[in-house]
Amino acid sequence: MAIKVEKILLDLVAIPSVSPLSNAPVIDYAEKYLGGWKIKRYPYRDAAGVEKINLVATTRPGIAELALVCHTDTVPYDAGWSEAVRPVIRAGKLYGRGSCDVKGFLACVLAAVARVKVSKSLAVVLTADEEVGCLGAKFLARKKVLRARNMVIGEPTGLRPVCAGKGYGLAEIVVRGKEAHSAFPSKGRSAIFDAARVVTRLERVAKRLEARKNRAFDPPFTTLNVGLIQGGTAKNIIAGECRITVEWRPVPGQPGDWAAELIREALKGFDARLDVKRIDPAFEPSTSRKLAGMVESMTGRSATTVSFGTEAAHLSTMTSEAIVFGPGDMTVAHRSGEFVAVKDLKKCVGYLGELIGLLCT
Ligand SMILES: [Zn+2]
Repeated sequence: MAIKVEKILLDLVAIPSVSPLSNAPVIDYAEKYLGGWKIKRYPYRDAAGVEKINLVATTRPGIAELALVCHTDTVPYDAGWSEAVRPVIRAGKLYGRGSCDVKGFLACVLAAVARVKVSKSLAVVLTADEEVGCLGAKFLARKKVLRARNMVIGEPTGLRPVCAGKGYGLAEIVVRGKEAHSAFPSKGRSAIFDAARVVTRLERVAKRLEARKNRAFDPPFTTLNVGLIQGGTAKNIIAGECRITVEWRPVPGQPGDWAAELIREALKGFDARLDVKRIDPAFEPSTSRKLAGMVESMTGRSATTVSFGTEAAHLSTMTSEAIVFGPGDMTVAHRSGEFVAVKDLKKCVGYLGELIGLLCT
């Protein structure tokens, strides 16, 4: 008899796998459901020296007709949330860290592949360090470990196919002034006054980004946020330095560094430097929409877009078409009390089984 999906999920949630820990215990657990598959591990060490493992399992060599992708790490949890790694099922909902993002989907994958016999190539890809910048996915994309025709990447989308997503950019602006005693302003130049002018210009950059619309998204443009500002050393010192952290989320069809170019222009005339820390590409929609169409008709839900980053932006180079899909609601993820509905897990196992049947048998 097939093992129940909620039983698999209870096991998975009970294995702590917050990003700083090694994900090896989750990988070892998942491997037990992939008996007879060709398994390849792609280990690497993270910045702290902890071993992380990406796993690529295939039923046969060659281009995979379908690849099911899932990350194995979770965000941290509050020490006061006792159910975080002691999951429970209450009133049809399974509570615990990662139940929704995204061990729920992983449990569905493991339950689905155990039930279906395939004659073509099916792949299961498990990644590390998604929550800290899609490091595992980037590693696999760089190494081009797999070719697939269709790829389903797990994230809580409420069982709705997602066919495009915004990218991500992060940068720090360092504005320099000249320190002096605050009683003698003419001896120095305040980095904070200059930074304030820079911030006003950044607001104008945001307006320019807003003017270019992509109606597939909500909001329908590249957003820009000044999330942090930090400067000065004391109330009676003219500030010598001020740092501004700025992020942007570019819509597909727009160069991911366009915002960075506009910011650089905005810094002209100031003693200021732009350090771009990260530019993740957008998840560009595929032109074929074959897979998205299949999942749309299966679920009765039309495809949508998301404004947050996913591994799809990196992994879509390995496949003809990718969608992001999974049970659970992203708005309950990343917080205490995270849960997924057991009935949605069961539906998802059914959809994945159907998809495997259509593409791999
Ligand atoms: Zn996730």
